[in-house]
Amino acid sequence: AAKRAFPNVADTDYADKEKREKAQEAFRIVRGQLGKTYLPLVNGKYENTSETFDSVNPSNPKEVVGKIGLLSVEQAEQALKAAKAAFPQWRKKSAKERADILRKAADLMEQRRAELCAWIVLEVGKPLQEADGEVSEAIDFCRYNANEIERLDQGYNYDLAGETNRYIYQPLGIALVISPWNFPFAIATGMTVAALVAGNCTLLKPAEVSSVIAAKLAEILVDAGMPPGVFQFVPGRGSIVGEYMVKHPDVNMIAFTGSQEVGCRIYANAAILQPGQKHLKRVIAEMGGKNAIIVDESADLDQAVAGVVHSAFGYSGQKCSACSRVIAVDSVYDTFVDRLVEVTRSLNVGNAEDPSTKVGPVVDSKARDRIREYIAKGKEESKLVLEMPSSEAGYFIGPVIFSEVSPTATIAQEEIFGPVLACIRAKDFQEALQIANGTNFALTGGLYSRTPSHIEQATAEFEVGNLYINRGITGAIVSRQPFGGFKLSGVGSKAGGPDYLLQFLEPRVVTENI
Ligand code: NAP
Repeated sequence: AAKRAFPNVADTDYADKEKREKAQEAFRIVRGQLGKTYLPLVNGKYENTSETFDSVNPSNPKEVVGKIGLLSVEQAEQALKAAKAAFPQWRKKSAKERADILRKAADLMEQRRAELCAWIVLEVGKPLQEADGEVSEAIDFCRYNANEIERLDQGYNYDLAGETNRYIYQPLGIALVISPWNFPFAIATGMTVAALVAGNCTLLKPAEVSSVIAAKLAEILVDAGMPPGVFQFVPGRGSIVGEYMVKHPDVNMIAFTGSQEVGCRIYANAAILQPGQKHLKRVIAEMGGKNAIIVDESADLDQAVAGVVHSAFGYSGQKCSACSRVIAVDSVYDTFVDRLVEVTRSLNVGNAEDPSTKVGPVVDSKARDRIREYIAKGKEESKLVLEMPSSEAGYFIGPVIFSEVSPTATIAQEEIFGPVLACIRAKDFQEALQIANGTNFALTGGLYSRTPSHIEQATAEFEVGNLYINRGITGAIVSRQPFGGFKLSGVGSKAGGPDYLLQFLEPRVVTENI
């Protein structure tokens, strides 16, 4: 197999006092800037809007992080016109010129890392260490996609005597990026820079609740040299302006990451040929998961407990890769669940800004209420073994663990997207694998085992896009663990992998008889 060594950027080492002080300083600076207004960027100009949205700090919702100007449908139309007008120039730029803008953006992100982390902590309640990992991922996406376009730009050469055959790539045209709030910086960056570097004029529609971070990304892309009309920042309501742009005949492709419900809707909307539309739209839809970790009789239980706790409760379970089911075989089930409960009990739940916090708030009141409904449902369906207190000061929900959950229970089938874990007892490894595969999703999965035949079987049969053996199941790294799922977890090839950029390009072949 081809081996690629990509130099991933290192995370911040907060054991270093200087780095901790820098983080504190960044919080002070960012706090001084809270409550500012961020406007859509249309054709190089920040446009006033008639409507705004207050983005608040989930740890303390009284604190307004920023006000977001919401794009109207008329302004969306103008932005699409500007994108169309900018395309002929942008596509003519060399791959290297476009790649160098991404490299510049990566450098700016590195310089602004501490400040970006503070915005992430304050806007979406992600604890600092994890926010820092997210900035690393965004930097990697810029540099990785820059290298990738230069690789693909070489094309292929299938010449014969008397005939040249050149296989080349061109951009599609206009790309619409619709991003989620849970990796507000990394995922928005990954999809946007891939679309741009491939030569597409790109509009970024972030999730409303994380629009301030997306506005910071917009600033960086402009500072790095993205021309007017080529990159546009179009915050607005997904169900109105998002849907309008998805259906627009001039949009060639949509790169979406978010929930299954919205992803399916976008897929359907994009399939309808609109008057005047001369192409079919390409849709990438990366959606949710109901990710399981299997613990068999040969597992190192200390390792398994630590891995499950981190995977289930890191960022309050609000990662598409998070573990929400743990399936342990009967012979170790009781011991495992007991230890799991004990270790989880020791997690600090609190304000995301506090360095000792392991579990911060969930993102907003809608998420909190939805998770609470699932907890109530879980209490009807199975045995509650841990419910840590949640506080009302912010959108806090303490970790919750259910035991003896039936594989078909609602809490074992639906994505909850919160700190709620379902423990399921299986007779043996075979049954555990069958249960693990028994959902509509196929995103991440894990196995703790020291039995080679189990590892081999899981490798072949565990239906997930990313399988992790004897480690946690979150924290994929660009180009080391290219990331993405299948089944109802999504359609598209893996982010941070060698096939990703191809989705933003149209291949052509030119044959010349000589
Ligand atoms: P979401 O509710 O589906 O929203 C995602 C984006 O879609 C937002 O920008 C939203 O805008 C927009 N949107 C909503 N309705 C729309 C419509 N009718 N047409 C066009 N756009 C529309 O998801 P989320 O809550 O932000 O994110 C969490 C979900 O993302 C989870 O299910 C998680 O598993 C999934 N996820 C998957 C991956 C992966 O790689 N597979 C990675 C991260 C997250 P508004 O905010 O304005 O509504």
